[in-house]
Amino acid sequence: MTGRLTVIGLGPGDPRWLTPAAAEALAAATDLVGYGPYVDRVPHREGLARHVSDNRVELDRARHALDLASEGRAVAVVSGGDPGIFAMAAAVFEALEEARPAWAAIDIRVEPGITAVLAAAARLGAPLGGDFAVLSLSDNLKPWAVVLRRLEAALAADFVVALYNPISTARPWQLGEALKLAGAHRAAEAPVAFARAVGRPDEAIRVLPLVEAVAVADSADMATLVLIGASATRWVGGPEGRRFLYTPRSVGRMP
Ligand code: SAH
Repeated sequence: MTGRLTVIGLGPGDPRWLTPAAAEALAAATDLVGYGPYVDRVPHREGLARHVSDNRVELDRARHALDLASEGRAVAVVSGGDPGIFAMAAAVFEALEEARPAWAAIDIRVEPGITAVLAAAARLGAPLGGDFAVLSLSDNLKPWAVVLRRLEAALAADFVVALYNPISTARPWQLGEALKLAGAHRAAEAPVAFARAVGRPDEAIRVLPLVEAVAVADSADMATLVLIGASATRWVGGPEGRRFLYTPRSVGRMP
């Protein structure tokens, strides 16, 4: 008997940011698999078994989900934001490379979610109006030298740069080093946004000039998305003193 495995993006936090398609997939599941805080976001209901695992065991979690599906269950693997961005969808396909015969007929799908950078950008205005690059600053799965080389290339090419996984207790200094590197490619006043827990009750968003952001890099945490503006990223005024951060769509003098 072969079941189904759907990798589902729960969005950044606000339940209204869960797509109807993702909600349907959750409603059809018999088993929920994921890291504790994400599983906790899905309301309990009768007939839904919950399989909670620790953060750093993505491959084991993926194998477990595939095993459950191969027994005929309808498995929902949940991720925050979008499941394809630094999250469980890639872990499921990585496990699938092991090509176990029992997994061959599983109906596998991915349901997208609103990823953190999109939620943060919507709060700020339109900082992603031009080209942008998305990097994970974590060196758990790649060497720090690779992180720096990619970051430097994105900064040098004048992309807006979004940094996921900016800092953790095990990686306290990497964000400071990344922002110092940004200083070699951007003006001291270039806007840097710290968008924390977007869409959750403890949401907090700050935008600082790059020089000041370097000084307070350690105030970011694992729930923070850091956005470094491109050279053209700037403010525009709105009503009641509100200001919006945006990046023009055009570069240079286009007709
Ligand atoms: N799959 C997720 C990202 C997982 S990596 C997504 O698509 O959003 C985890 C990182 O995502 C965090 O360290 C943080 O940088 C970012 N992040 C996730 N949720 C966030 C939120 N609500 N607000 C700000 N950043 C968030």
